[in-house]
Amino acid sequence: QHSPDLERALARLALGRGGPRDLAALRDALVAADAIRSSLLALPQDTLPGLWQAIVQQLGDHAALVDQLARALKPELPYLARDGGFIARNFSPPLDELLTLRDDSQRLIVGLQQNYATASGVPTLKIKHNNVIGYHIEVTPQHADKLGAQPELFIHRQSLANACRFTTVELNELERKISEAAGRALALELQLFAELTAAALDRLAPLRATAQALAQLDVLLGLAETARLEGYCRPMLTDGLDFTVTSGQHPVVAQALRRSGGGDFIANDCDLGAAQRLWLLTGPNMAGKSTFLRQNALIAVLAQMGSFVPAQAATIGIIDKLFSRVGAADDLARGRSTFMVEMVETAAILHQATARSLVILDEIGRGTATYDGMALASAVMEHLHDANQARALFATHYHELTELRTRLPALYCATMKIREWQGNIIFMHAVIAGVADRSYGIHVAKLAGLPAPVIARAEALLQALEQQHGKRNQQMMAGQSAKPAPELPLFAAPVALPASPPPPNPALEKLAALNPDELTPKQALEALYALKQVLQDR
Ligand code: ATP
Repeated sequence: QHSPDLERALARLALGRGGPRDLAALRDALVAADAIRSSLLALPQDTLPGLWQAIVQQLGDHAALVDQLARALKPELPYLARDGGFIARNFSPPLDELLTLRDDSQRLIVGLQQNYATASGVPTLKIKHNNVIGYHIEVTPQHADKLGAQPELFIHRQSLANACRFTTVELNELERKISEAAGRALALELQLFAELTAAALDRLAPLRATAQALAQLDVLLGLAETARLEGYCRPMLTDGLDFTVTSGQHPVVAQALRRSGGGDFIANDCDLGAAQRLWLLTGPNMAGKSTFLRQNALIAVLAQMGSFVPAQAATIGIIDKLFSRVGAADDLARGRSTFMVEMVETAAILHQATARSLVILDEIGRGTATYDGMALASAVMEHLHDANQARALFATHYHELTELRTRLPALYCATMKIREWQGNIIFMHAVIAGVADRSYGIHVAKLAGLPAPVIARAEALLQALEQQHGKRNQQMMAGQSAKPAPELPLFAAPVALPASPPPPNPALEKLAALNPDELTPKQALEALYALKQVLQDR
């Protein structure tokens, strides 16, 4: 069943902004609602769950209004009521009378044209209409004299370069009748439109209930259809603090991947049971950390709204609040920078999350200096673990945070599986127990197309930084050092860097500047010689 947007049509009509098409939308939506209601009523009512019985009630019976609208409206409708021409024949006898008068008059005009052609002896004589002078008789200039010779019948109105126009008393009279009838018909149509709108608005409350029932059905059927097509499972909801998802998927990413031919979505398990209620997820950029966090939050939302979930099995202890801190956004208009927004959101979580809550935190502390960020992230983890005790998933690139597992018993370290192959990494998108050793950020930057010299320089800097600071970070996370180094070595001391990248090759630059599509064969040959020459000159 297809149904137009009933709620929107009702709102437009109620606000006095509606047009004939809104009445048609009302009619079509009510026809659809009626068909759905009949099929629901055909089912054994005692097997229908309470929710569906309520929906049947709400769908209501609007037969009288549907009938009125069905009889009133033409199949093709103008956008605005004031354009007229939307009320069907046989709906309003007075309107039909006016329309007949108008149509008869038009037939009379056709008759007049024949009479005048005969009377004047000009077979090409036409009666035309335009918005400036209304109905008029038109002949070509060479026939004008023939009409001019009968001034008692034909009254001259206009002479143009290629046409002469006349009128007659009878034609004028007919025109007056036609436009009067059309004006009265339009006024009547507007009145009928107002009456139909009023009839609909009289039933506003039950119509709104029907709109809501249709919307609810739309959601329920959408969920049911997706669950069936995508093989979702029925989640178990408990009063405990469980959170076990077997082979969970991200409902949107999984479908998007399949549709774009990007391969299969890799399903992942998640268990936030009491012994490991706080997950610290590390792994390279692009490995799927955010996706994993969000899919578990979405599974929780779907489960609690009564839907099946994208997983093979899921047991979820009822969640009182779901908190999510993801992405980077600022709110400059309200005086909040990106980092400020991040911290405001984190503050809300730490103040409000309870042991029944679910928290996903995708990167904390990325918007400030490394050590500030790492210290904050570490303290946030500790608070979540000790004070809030919420079930939580925390994704980070601060691999040093994994040292916290020595101090936080319910902390579980998970990482995204990757494979290194011929100097490249392959994202396996599988969540496994463990700790990532690197973020491979430079690798992802290379994939994204950063210039080669930038990548080379970044690799060299990374090596130097890792040598100098690896140990200190570990100490800090193990709680052994309260005073992290204030600066990165980039500024504190010159680091030994490899020789700067080789100078660009002029032959390659010349080649890059060529546009083969713009070259003639001769020019192409010359360019080839020139390139060879550049190479020889080096
Ligand atoms: P970053 O650290 O850069 O934010 P990330 O680890 O959070 O990266 P995501 O943004 O979650 O990575 O995922 C990157 C892309 O990998 C997604 O857009 C998706 O196309 C793909 N992907 C993520 N998870 C899976 C999965 N389980 N199966 C298949 N593809 C996946």
